[in-house]
Amino acid sequence: MTAALMALAAGLMLAVLVLLWRWRNSHMKQHEALQAREEHLTVALWGSGEQFWDFDLDRRELHLLHADESEPDLGKGLAVSSRRVSLPLVHPHDRATLRRRLRAHLRGREPLFTSEHRVDPDGDGNWVWVRIHGRTVLRDARGRTRRLAGTARDTTANRHAEAERRIASEVLRSMSEAVAVLDRELHFVAVNPAFTQITGYSDVEALGRPFTMLDSDHSEGGGTLRQDLNRQHWQGNVWMTRRDGEEILCHVKHNGIPDAAGDVNFHVVVLSDITEQKRAEQELRYLANYDALTSLPNRSLLSERLARAIVRARREGGHVAVLFLDLDRFKDVNDSLGHATGDRVLRAAAERVQQAVGPQHTVARLGGDEFTVVLEGLAAPREAEDVAQRVIESFAMPLVLDEHHEITVSPSIGISLFPDHAQVPTELLKHADTAMYQAKAAGRRTWQVYSASMDEATRRRATLTGLLRRVVEREELALVYQPRYSLHEGRVVGAEALLRWRNPEFGSIPPDQFIPLAEDTGLILEIGEWVLKEACTTLRQWHEAGLEGMRMSVNVSPIQLLRGDLAATLARILAETGVASGQLELELTESAIMANVGRSASVLHACRILGVGVAVDDFGTGYSSLAYLKRLPLTTLKIDQEFVGDLTRDPDDEAITSTVIAMGHSLSLTVVAEGVETAGQLQFLRDHGCDEVQGHYIAAAMERDECMAFMARPMAEPA
Ligand code: C2E
Ligand code: MG
Ligand code: MG
Repeated sequence: MTAALMALAAGLMLAVLVLLWRWRNSHMKQHEALQAREEHLTVALWGSGEQFWDFDLDRRELHLLHADESEPDLGKGLAVSSRRVSLPLVHPHDRATLRRRLRAHLRGREPLFTSEHRVDPDGDGNWVWVRIHGRTVLRDARGRTRRLAGTARDTTANRHAEAERRIASEVLRSMSEAVAVLDRELHFVAVNPAFTQITGYSDVEALGRPFTMLDSDHSEGGGTLRQDLNRQHWQGNVWMTRRDGEEILCHVKHNGIPDAAGDVNFHVVVLSDITEQKRAEQELRYLANYDALTSLPNRSLLSERLARAIVRARREGGHVAVLFLDLDRFKDVNDSLGHATGDRVLRAAAERVQQAVGPQHTVARLGGDEFTVVLEGLAAPREAEDVAQRVIESFAMPLVLDEHHEITVSPSIGISLFPDHAQVPTELLKHADTAMYQAKAAGRRTWQVYSASMDEATRRRATLTGLLRRVVEREELALVYQPRYSLHEGRVVGAEALLRWRNPEFGSIPPDQFIPLAEDTGLILEIGEWVLKEACTTLRQWHEAGLEGMRMSVNVSPIQLLRGDLAATLARILAETGVASGQLELELTESAIMANVGRSASVLHACRILGVGVAVDDFGTGYSSLAYLKRLPLTTLKIDQEFVGDLTRDPDDEAITSTVIAMGHSLSLTVVAEGVETAGQLQFLRDHGCDEVQGHYIAAAMERDECMAFMARPMAEPA
């Protein structure tokens, strides 16, 4: 029995032990499984970057479960914390949406509760974006949700990255520079709209194609891109070819984008089209140095070249010559034919000068009708004179403006030499200018070499200009009178008033010398008025002395015609002196009238309305044209003494004179010949029906009283 009991007890013990072992074993297995599951969950939780949440609606309790930030160490197990947290503050802007979404789930309209909104978990004003996924995990008997659980993820960084990406793509899109992304083989991967605009290639056309499609053969002022892209950062100017074949100059900025290993897998190339800018720069540089009308170097480039020429000549012991060239009476060309024609004349003249001096010498235009030539490497100073002569001769042939228009102009040239006359460019130019003035004074169409005595002439000009200012006030002006003889009536019918300046220091200064100065300074207005008044006063005295029929001619400057109120002045003077307007005549040169035909015509009409006569003086020397004679209210034509002087000697001048007489008569004008000095000339004029003559053969100009006596004297019929 005992043995049986013992055996039973032992059996029981064994059974218990087995059970215990089993239980322990299964318990341990269960524990291990649990641990493994927890580990899986934790790793998944960590790996997902999400937090688990669990919200009890009755207790309004929120539990959060999340893995630690640090990398999991499976050997040690993961730190997972679960805590009860208070409901975080939701951003006011997001509250309504959150509520709506939650309600949709609670009412069963949405199987899942999802939301992305901002919360402030720490209540410190740092808003964090979270994305929530969840669903109901417990309902009450009536099916209402009691617990919600799910995951939450912090999406703040994503959101920022997304915003940045959007901004970046918007910036790229709106950039005016072309941006292209290239792969390692320099094929296009992406381009922006400006790229299309600048290169003409749409993104579809560009993507996948090599960057070399933009290559250009043009290399001036630019680099080649291929070589330069090998560097990680590079910028410079490169010529490229647009899709339409046009070449454009681009400023290129290149950045290679290295990957983590430092290999450049992408290139970002930013292009801006600087073709226009470059063109404008070049244009500006051109404008700064070249004359726009003739394309010759201008004053600034001339000075530069002259300075360099001087430096070379000084080093080599050579000579430099400066030729200062001015076109004769160019102002008349401009005034009579218009500025457009004037410009064409200047262009043609520029070419003519350059041809004459040869391409190795600099020809510059200083403005107006002034040109300058710099002659270098002269063997002897005399060579400069030869060149000047060649230039003058080259102008013997008319300048061809176009198929229908030719014009003949002549230059006057002044020459100065380095080192003979000056050492620096400004002085050389000044001296050549002075010499040019002397060439003009010497009769134009000639050249003069500078000499120190010329400065004296220039100084005299300056002094005279100064003295001229007070000439009226100091009563240094006087008129002399030259009789006018009628070939029909056989008697003196009037006189021309000629101006004289008697200066105590300089003596008698002829009008040809001081009238241009008075015109330049505008003093001619005051002087001209004095002349009119004085001439009318004299005429009045002659009339009172019994010479009632006598007429008076007064010379008028173009400046008086253009600037002054000539008709009003005349009316006043006629009234003051009591001279009948029909006995006064104004003399104007052709160029004076042509300076502004429109204005001349209206002023002369006003004078004619007063009853004053109008004569064209020095007819034949200018651009004598019937067309304008017909348009102007003229009464008299005065044939220039240049033609009269050669009558009986030069058949051409005879032909011209007889033609002018006939032409004048056909327009019902009185024709007067000036500068008649011989009986032969007078006879010719009489034979050809000229109306009146004037000249030393009749009488030279005389003082007022002397002239009156001459006119009063009965005259023997000349010749
Ligand atoms: P003009 O009006 O053609 O005057 C004729 C010029 O020829 C005068 O020169 C006169 O003295 C000169 N002369 C007259 N007969 C003969 C002759 O037989 N042979 C030669 N060789 N010459 C003769 P002048 O007095 O020296 O005047 C020169 C120019 O100055 C005038 O040419 C006129 O254009 C201008 N002038 C004269 N007085 C005035 C004036 O009061 N106002 C303006 N604006 N110009 C004037
Ligand atoms: Mg005259
Ligand atoms: Mg004259």
